[in-house]
Amino acid sequence: MPLFLFDTLTRRKREFKPLHDKEVRLYSCGLTVYNFGHIGNFSHYIFVDFLKRYLKFEGYKVMHVRNITDVGHLVDDADEGEDKMLRASRLEKKDPWEIAKFYTEAFSHDCETLGLEKPDQEPKATDHIQGMIDMIATLIEKGIAYKAKDGVYFDISKFPQYGELSGNKVADLEAGARVEVNTNKKNPVDFALWKTDQPEHIMQWDSPWGRGYPGWHIECSAMSKEYLGEQLDIHTGGEDNIFPHHECEIAQSEGVSGKKFVNFWMHKRYLLVEGEKMSKSKGNFYTLSDLHLKWLEQGFSGDMKEAAQIFKFLVLSAHYRSQLDFGFKALTDAYKAWEKIDVAIHRAGDAVPNDTIKGIREEFEKYELHFYQALGDDLNTPNALAAMFDYVRELNAALDGDGISLVEQEHAETFFNEFQGLFGVDINLYTLTPDLMDMVMQREEARKVKDFALSDKLRQELLEKGVEVKDKKTGVEWRRTLILSSKF
Ligand SMILES: [Zn+2]
Ligand SMILES: [Zn+2]
Repeated sequence: MPLFLFDTLTRRKREFKPLHDKEVRLYSCGLTVYNFGHIGNFSHYIFVDFLKRYLKFEGYKVMHVRNITDVGHLVDDADEGEDKMLRASRLEKKDPWEIAKFYTEAFSHDCETLGLEKPDQEPKATDHIQGMIDMIATLIEKGIAYKAKDGVYFDISKFPQYGELSGNKVADLEAGARVEVNTNKKNPVDFALWKTDQPEHIMQWDSPWGRGYPGWHIECSAMSKEYLGEQLDIHTGGEDNIFPHHECEIAQSEGVSGKKFVNFWMHKRYLLVEGEKMSKSKGNFYTLSDLHLKWLEQGFSGDMKEAAQIFKFLVLSAHYRSQLDFGFKALTDAYKAWEKIDVAIHRAGDAVPNDTIKGIREEFEKYELHFYQALGDDLNTPNALAAMFDYVRELNAALDGDGISLVEQEHAETFFNEFQGLFGVDINLYTLTPDLMDMVMQREEARKVKDFALSDKLRQELLEKGVEVKDKKTGVEWRRTLILSSKF
């Protein structure tokens, strides 16, 4: 299946072809580990995880690097303000290394909860200072960067393509630059590669230009070069990374190599929370555990991992370039949609094939084809899911009618397995804890001896604990449900 991806730089969809055979060099900007990741950060990593799974499914070998920013990212992306790490360190009264270690571990744990595959490399910026110094030295040698009183700056007048990714014009940026411009710069839009003369900064390294620390942007240029080389197939980030971060990465990497840095720039659109942009001041800044706790208050009964899995499904139910409006109604709807597929998976698996039906109805193959065509079209997950729901509807209709053939059952099994492998929603509603299992058994016993009062009481108790019990001709069936009551 051909794959078309939208490239932010050229602003159009192009057929994806790796630079080398079937190998994909993929780089994603990682978290700045000064706080817990929030659902906006995770929506980017969920998108990348899906992209990776899809590429692997299509037979590509993916080399994925996602860095950890543990120094140099200032509160204001435009080189101003305090270092985010140092700010957290001051507020939490811990040294920045402890802050970084704590939030890096929390981040790994959250990624595991979401079921995201680990990147092949997760380099830390502080382990790659030498690589950054080497790149800065090359830029100075080439006359593209210069040393000033308080550090080293990239001279954007030497890189005319600056602004192409974001669509910013240098003249507009100059006009918009702060009134109290840093007079050490030749041009107010020049950005810092290395900062010196800041004795209060705890994390410092020696360099040919004095003791100091790197700018945020050079970190990704250095780490991507070290692990993936000078040219990448795909570079991802959140939409808010386009400017200045990725614009600066291009300037640095291409300034050093003289080659095109990235073949496809892919950006995850930022998400809204109940119609608004996420911000600390609005109090709508959700970590995964905030999401779980708040959802519990709204009728959800699953654990943290189950909440995270449904959040992942919600993110994937919107196209990565469209705006997802996160809220608990949307989350609940995502759960119900996923549950519909999950029920069909089990129905199909448990069905006894009807051997008077031969072959496969063409609808099944048609909807499967639509599913993959949608994914090949810039990973259009909402269209793929629409095809999946067509498939599920057709399957349920067949199961409600004459049943399905053996070929159809096998088709469903394969297709659902592929779906699970791509969307990766890992929730099992068909296993019960031993005490719940006991209650189901007690209820069975009560029913056998025709103690219907007890059996109804136990059924009600089970329901309150999130287990639905159904009596079928073939015996008792149970299934957990993660939404017991909901105002939606
Ligand atoms: Zn980056
Ligand atoms: Zn089953």
